[in-house]
Amino acid sequence: MKHTLTRRGFLAQTTASGLGLGFAGACAQGRAGKWFGAPSAPPRTWRAGVAKEKITPTRPVWMTGYGARNKPSEGVLCDLYVRVLALEDETGARAVLVASDILGFPPPVNRSLSDKIEKKYRVPRARLLLASSHTHGGPALHDPLGPLYGPRVTAEQWSEIQKYTQELEDKVVATVGRALTDLQPAKLAFGRGQAKFGINRREKTKEGTFRIGVNPNGPVDPDVPVLRIESASGGLRAVVFGYACHTTTLGGNIYQFHGDYAGFAQEALEKEHPGATALFVMGCGGDINPHPRGTLEQAQEYGRQLAAAVNQAMSKPMRALRGPLKPAYARVDIPFAPHPPREAWEKQLQDADIYKQWQAKEMLKQLERDGRLPASYPYPIQMWQFGDNHLTMIVLAGEVVVDYALRLKRELGAGRTWVAGYCNEVFAYIPSRRIVEEGGYEGGGAMVYYVQPGPFAPQVEEVIIGKVHAMVKQLQSDRSDKSDNL
Ligand SMILES: [Zn+2]
Repeated sequence: MKHTLTRRGFLAQTTASGLGLGFAGACAQGRAGKWFGAPSAPPRTWRAGVAKEKITPTRPVWMTGYGARNKPSEGVLCDLYVRVLALEDETGARAVLVASDILGFPPPVNRSLSDKIEKKYRVPRARLLLASSHTHGGPALHDPLGPLYGPRVTAEQWSEIQKYTQELEDKVVATVGRALTDLQPAKLAFGRGQAKFGINRREKTKEGTFRIGVNPNGPVDPDVPVLRIESASGGLRAVVFGYACHTTTLGGNIYQFHGDYAGFAQEALEKEHPGATALFVMGCGGDINPHPRGTLEQAQEYGRQLAAAVNQAMSKPMRALRGPLKPAYARVDIPFAPHPPREAWEKQLQDADIYKQWQAKEMLKQLERDGRLPASYPYPIQMWQFGDNHLTMIVLAGEVVVDYALRLKRELGAGRTWVAGYCNEVFAYIPSRRIVEEGGYEGGGAMVYYVQPGPFAPQVEEVIIGKVHAMVKQLQSDRSDKSDNL
């Protein structure tokens, strides 16, 4: 593993018994030090709770992920689930991770779910992490923009999507409640494995443009970050794991629900560890596809490979994680490139492509309503830091390309940084400066399908990375968990 040297100083074997206080490395410094020196009154440690609920639609509903689909679903290949991990640190503060077999939560669903969960369980926004596996075998969720399905859907089908979205929200909220009532003493540890079935998909054409294909020389991120949650007696209760690769082994010709490789990986881990819950969190796989792809057998095989990488990481020494869990959640405005004039949108209304028509119609509607199109998007960035930076999860929204994960791990320390994408809300691709400048689907072409007003400006990368660094700095200087209010 290429990061062994940088990790070595932070690794510590977790103990098989006790309250997870076996860590004696970097943790013995700083504020965590206050835990030591009170042997007669063992401090409280983590508590963890899990819950799982089937979310497979029971009626035909439009699927999303592939623009070529032209009808609602026709049955089920594999069930879809929402899985929830609730954590409580030694201060009694709680946090909730929701892992879903969903393409991505549209911004209105992110808002609605976080409002409901905050109101019902008093879990503030920064302490709720909504992850989506980006499966292209999942249902469409209601979004007024209807990305990837809007132009094709009848009023009746649209109402089915709305109904399903409501049912899903109810299930997520109820499952969060079950996980919170399941809190039991736990030990947390972090490690990393590797998987190799992802390949960069930005293929350069003879004309110098980029198309979705296969680029063996392009960047990938083989990391499989693993968060292990054990009971006080050492049994595996849950495992959270990530990988940066589109959940697109199966194509748009499949009209039956499935979780693709991520669904198979979660299922394989739960089968192998009875009683444990496996939660997948996508990485920055915006420009990564499984390779080769197209068959159910391949999706199952990649699921097995990913599960094996997780098991391998858990079989090695892992770094015990101490609390507290310090969260942050903030929005930063990421700029769009200058917009085309109104006449260009009017012309685009006549385009043969129905998605371009749909985008133009929406942009003209916004121009009519607001007099202008938005100059930027309020981009949510979240982070969860464990203890004194023993692990920081940088939780990004949208379809983030791999350059972000590679850069952030380089700048923040690969051995202590987990970079997740596709979390909280998915509303566009998030290209790096390089990809904005190169163009292609992830560089701006996909904005048509996301019904956004155009590509992001090249500064998008610096704005996001700059905000991440500012938030990390604030978390590290924050001793009183005020970061909830960021
Ligand atoms: Zn995607």
